[in-house]
Parts: sequence; C-alpha cells; structure tokens
Amino acid sequence: MPGRGKKPTPGHCHFCGRAAEEVALLVSGIEAQICDRCIERAREIVEMELAGKMPKNTRYGQPLRLMPPREIKAFLDEYVIGQDEAKKVLAVAVYNHYKRIQQIEKGKGKTTDAHAVEIEKSNILLVGHTGTGKTLLAKTIARLLNVPFTIVDATVFTEAGYVGEDVESILSRLLQVCDYDVAAAERGIVYIDEIDKIARKQDNPSITRDVSGEGVQQALLKMLEGADILVPPQGGRKHPEQRMIKINTENILFICGGAFDGIEKIIARRVNAQVIGYNKTHTSQIERDNLLRYLAPQDVKQYGLIPELVGRLPVLVHLHPLDALALQKILTEPRNALLRQYKHLFALEGIALEVTPDAIEYIAEKAIEYKLGARGLRALCEAILMDAMFDPEKEIDTESKRLVVNRHYAVQKINRSGLDNLKAA
Ligand code: ADP
Repeated sequence: MPGRGKKPTPGHCHFCGRAAEEVALLVSGIEAQICDRCIERAREIVEMELAGKMPKNTRYGQPLRLMPPREIKAFLDEYVIGQDEAKKVLAVAVYNHYKRIQQIEKGKGKTTDAHAVEIEKSNILLVGHTGTGKTLLAKTIARLLNVPFTIVDATVFTEAGYVGEDVESILSRLLQVCDYDVAAAERGIVYIDEIDKIARKQDNPSITRDVSGEGVQQALLKMLEGADILVPPQGGRKHPEQRMIKINTENILFICGGAFDGIEKIIARRVNAQVIGYNKTHTSQIERDNLLRYLAPQDVKQYGLIPELVGRLPVLVHLHPLDALALQKILTEPRNALLRQYKHLFALEGIALEVTPDAIEYIAEKAIEYKLGARGLRALCEAILMDAMFDPEKEIDTESKRLVVNRHYAVQKINRSGLDNLKAA
C-alpha cells in the first residue's frame, strides 16, 4: 500500500496511507488528511468505546435454554451432596431469572401494556457455616448457564477513599467474563461471597467511620436495587479521567453468601423470647436443634446488614452443617469427588489407589473435629497421601502396584503431619 510505514505524503490519507485516487473522499485538516474509510472506522471505534461495546461474545448471544427447576436440581445433585432445600430454591430462582429475561426480550419493541404483569427479580441470600457448599452451589450453577456469571468476594470492597476496590468492580468482573458485551452482562448472575464480612459492627459507635461496613452496603444496595451504574472497565478504583461503561443492574441476579458466624445466638434469643412462658419443652427442643433452620430476615438485620439491603435479598436460604455421613459421601460420590480425583492422579502413575471404608470414616470424623466442614477434607487427604505422592516406591506394594489406605495407615500419616494443631482453632 503506498505510503504505509513511511512519512505520509500530501494527497494521501495520513491514517492508512492510501492515495487520493484510491479513496472516495479525502478530508484535509490543518496538518493532516483522512480518508472516508478511516473516518468510518474511527466512528465505529468511538461508538464502540462510548457504548462500552467490544465485539460480542457469541456464547451469550445464543437464545436462552430454559431448563426446568427439576433438571437444574438434578444437575446440582451430581456435584453437591445434600442441601436439598438450598438447591431447590436456587433452581427455582435461576429458572425464574431466565423466564423473566425471556419475557423482557419478547416484550422489546412492543408498546407497553399497562396491565402486563412484571416479574420482579428475587435476589438470594445463602447462610451457612464455612465449607458447607455455598460457593460450590454457585459455581455448579455457573456451569449450566449461558448467561455471564461471576464470583466476587465482598471482603475486598471498601468505601470510596480507602484502600481496596470499589463495589462497582463487581460489574467490571461481569463485563470481563462476557468480553464487555454490555447487553449480556445486564442479564448476568453475580455471586457475592462473604457478605457477612461487610456487616455493620455492632459495637462500633456510628461517629467513627466503619471503613468496610455500612458505606459498602449502601453502594451494594444501589446495585441490587437496579440502578444505572457507571463501571470502570478494568475494575479496581475509579478515577476521574477513566472512561466508564454504563450498566443497568435491573435484570442482574445477585446471589449472596456468608457464614454469619454467631448468628445462632441472635436466632436463639429471638426464638426463646417468643416462646417464653408459653411452652418450656418447646424452648429446650429448639436449643438442641440446629438453630439456623429458624433463620429469619430480622436475624440478618440484627447481625449488621442494613434493613434496605436485607429487603433486597428476599429469598433467604440456610445450608445445613455437614454431618459425618455427608462428609463421607462428599469424599466419594460427586462427579469430581476428592477420592476420585486422587485415584485418577495415582492411576496416571500406574498405581491403583484403594481407600477402605474405615479410612473414609476416619477422615470424615477428623474433618468434623477440625470444624472446617468439607474444607478440611482436602487438607486431610493431602496429609495422608503426601508421602505416597512424593515417593510412591516406598509406600506402595511394588508387585501389585497398589496402595491400600486403611484406617491404620491414615491415622499414622495424620499423627505425623502436625495437622492436629488445627484442633485448637
Ligand atoms: P463455603 O460454604 O464456605 O462457600 P465451599 O462451597 O467453598 O464452602 O466448599 C469448600 C469445598 O468443600 C468445595 O470445594 C467442595 O469440594 C466441598 N464441599 C462443601 N460442601 C459440599 C457439598 N455439600 N457437597 C459436595 N462437596 C462439598
């Protein structure tokens, strides 16, 4: 192409280097010229930049596949043990989210019907001890969706003016997931983990600024309410010169999760207060049961989430603590269960790994002792199998190429690992 890479000459486009006779129009400025093609291209770039529209990600351009709640739950069952109630609620919420979006898309371009019923979105709050499967549920749902989905951690957000990230960067992540396709992001799903960590501290007098508390909740509230939010494309902190992308959050489904450590005390106080002088046996029964099942929105408020935010999370679900049997199942049953993964790892080395039922029982017992829920299982398995992974020849039966992990073997490895220090925690 004439002039390309060299100093542009008069009578040529200073952008692409084409000569005047190769283009339809050459517009002259004070020192430079530009052709009609480059003007057109520049206009596209400006439009794309202003609307925040990068090339569309085809994955999210597909029509939505409406999966009925039963199918969604069946899919979750393959990966997540127990937690039936939470699975049901999530399945219905995701299904309704899809229906809602379909309704909006069908209604586009039509004159608005004053009598049409509008489906409101129902953001969700998952409450459950650490390691009970909150994040796993969210991640598993993400696998079957063809709407953009992202997981963010509430602990990184702080009020404007402090070190940390602005709440708006939640939406930056969503945009990044779908290659900055704003329309796709606007119907996505966001999982916000550790929402309890931004609770207002109860003993914090309001005259001091609560850096990670109420200000963050207010910012989050705006987002959950369905406002137009200006988002920094790369996330992090906003700054004045930065170009912003406008996102409407009205159709974004928010799922929040948190352990809410100590919320049982609040529930106990409320439940006991209600039944005082009414039925004493009932009270003591409640105390013995798992208190989380009596969870109500006022407990979350009392814990330190502002009432407006609790109001925007109308679906409140609790996850059950995992008992020993559930932990044993987690080790063996899900599609990508831990023991299946280890078996596969050893098989790649030509070794058949067998973990006996009494060893599985032992691992589950220990995980309960450490109070880490299913999170402790991986650490325990690592400690038990580390030597065999490091130096298989020493640990396995070299003739049969088998490694049998029974209770005795597991106890020995755990005792030597120093993992028992976790008990103190
Ligand atoms: P949290 O409730 O703290 O978000 P996670 O979902 O991150 O817990 O769980 C940690 C790990 O424990 C997961 O990666 C998963 O392997 C396992 N796990 C937890 N709960 C379950 C469950 N109900 N079914 C299967 N695996 C689980």
